[in-house]
Amino acid sequence: MNMMCCLLCYADNDSHTHLFFECKYSSQVWISIRQKAGMESVNPKWADIVDWLVLRARSKSVATYVARLMVAASAYYIWQERNARIFKNQLRPPEVISKAILDTVRYKLMGAKLKNTASVQRLLGKWKINDNDINDDGADLFRFIEVGMSHD
Ligand SMILES: [Zn+2]
Repeated sequence: MNMMCCLLCYADNDSHTHLFFECKYSSQVWISIRQKAGMESVNPKWADIVDWLVLRARSKSVATYVARLMVAASAYYIWQERNARIFKNQLRPPEVISKAILDTVRYKLMGAKLKNTASVQRLLGKWKINDNDINDDGADLFRFIEVGMSHD
């Protein structure tokens, strides 16, 4: 059993239930982003989040897709922050983590093949994604890098 002190809040033990997302730090992250996924009613508790997702497990709606991305990105970035504190002595405030999560979800949405329905349009608008951004596979970025790297 791991009884190490939580390096995100220094107030509890470093357990999975604590980290996702009962920790003061993690709950601050979750509460600041959950409404972007239509999950404003979902408490910062892993069991509550899982229950919410299980109820919608068969849903193919874009809103549920965003919720899944959001939960996965939140767990990933909080775990990464915890590890960065252990191994790299790096400390980032919760706002930085929240922004990284939202940027990741937004980027995934840009690359996703979504049907052109009214609800998809509404959702993309909420995420400030334009038609031009959609299905951006990064090709422009790679072309830009190649041009920058050729010297002759
Ligand atoms: Zn904590």
